[in-house]
Amino acid sequence: MIPRRRIPLEFADFLEWIRAPFLAARAAADVAAFEREFGERFQVPHAIAVASGRDALGLIVDGLGLTAGDEVVIPAYTLGELLPFLQGRGLTLVPADVDRDSFNVTADSVRRACSPRTRAILVVHLLGAPCDIVGILAIAEQLGIPLIEDCAHAPGAEVAGRPLGSFGRAALFSLEVNKALMAFGGGILATHDDTLAAQARAAVARRPRREWPAMKKMALKWIEELGVRSPLYGPLARYLFSDRRAGSFDRLYRKANNRVRSHFAFSGFQARLARRRLARLDDRQARLSELWSQTVAVLPAALRVQRRQQFGTPAFYNLVVRFDGDVRSLRQRALAAGIDLGIGDEVMSDCAALLGRPDCPVSADVFAHAVLLPVYDGLPESARRRLLARLDALLQGSAAEVAA
Ligand SMILES: *Cc1c(COP(=O)(O)O)cnc(C)c1O
Repeated sequence: MIPRRRIPLEFADFLEWIRAPFLAARAAADVAAFEREFGERFQVPHAIAVASGRDALGLIVDGLGLTAGDEVVIPAYTLGELLPFLQGRGLTLVPADVDRDSFNVTADSVRRACSPRTRAILVVHLLGAPCDIVGILAIAEQLGIPLIEDCAHAPGAEVAGRPLGSFGRAALFSLEVNKALMAFGGGILATHDDTLAAQARAAVARRPRREWPAMKKMALKWIEELGVRSPLYGPLARYLFSDRRAGSFDRLYRKANNRVRSHFAFSGFQARLARRRLARLDDRQARLSELWSQTVAVLPAALRVQRRQQFGTPAFYNLVVRFDGDVRSLRQRALAAGIDLGIGDEVMSDCAALLGRPDCPVSADVFAHAVLLPVYDGLPESARRRLLARLDALLQGSAAEVAA
């Protein structure tokens, strides 16, 4: 089975794990060093390491003074788990529809979603593809409201030579396991707003710092990963991702992940992992760029890759394609052929539908047709060839079915 994603098992992480209990006294200095390097790399004066990407978003929302009843425009197609989190603060969320090809919000759709009650705009650079950040920033400035950038997928992406995350009033980054700068959880609040930064710092300073939660998460994730790499994973995936069970398994898995999500201050262990990955970010980008271009060039025509370069240089997160046939049946046949594809909420969610808003038809359409391909850093060349050959065979099968 070619799994959908892979958690890197790096010896250097293991060494940090062993050393961590002895270096607890250095934690504050290591976190400060990471924040400084992150700020330099992403051209923001304030980078604050926090518990998770969503924690950064919460601190931004609070720091901007958004409170119950305020209206915030959000992307119709993004991580669904952000919704309850924002709704928990009493905000009224208004989805802006997305573009069919880039899956991102557009300046037009954002303008249409704005009203006199709008207090902030949240955009995401989805799957590393820059959205029209310059056009959307102009709208926010015209309305005199802050723009928040969700850069969870975007480290390494640029617009006009400037890293994403430095355009809006504030940005959130994620250091979660499946993200580019993973530190077994954590997030960054990046901003050039001194007041917002001071407020977030004060909130974070009140939290206790603990080394163990991220270390425990690494231990659990490594066990999970050994399972994914074992021969048992194939039959297990066929069972768990079958049509009947996939949705409930996805929810269960997210719940389990939420249990190991830290609410403590960012730890020294995490800071050292994140610094090492920050130093190698550009190498990783280059590797993925190569892997993607080799893959995309020979992908079956029925799989249309997300449009990524319209507004700048993209970063590499997940390779998502659009398949205009039945994605559930494609996924089932792929599983039988030993390929683990992601569909539906496993890719991203139709947040407009989750909010009960029927006015974002493109988001619904993208949601119904998006397919996540298992193309990740470390995918062996032999597996890549196998993946492409099997996809070819599957899609010829489906063309034949349609013809028959
Ligand atoms: C991962 C992610 C986040 C932040 O996630 P955390 O798990 O809270 O670190 C935010 N937005 C999107 C689109 C994401 O994929």
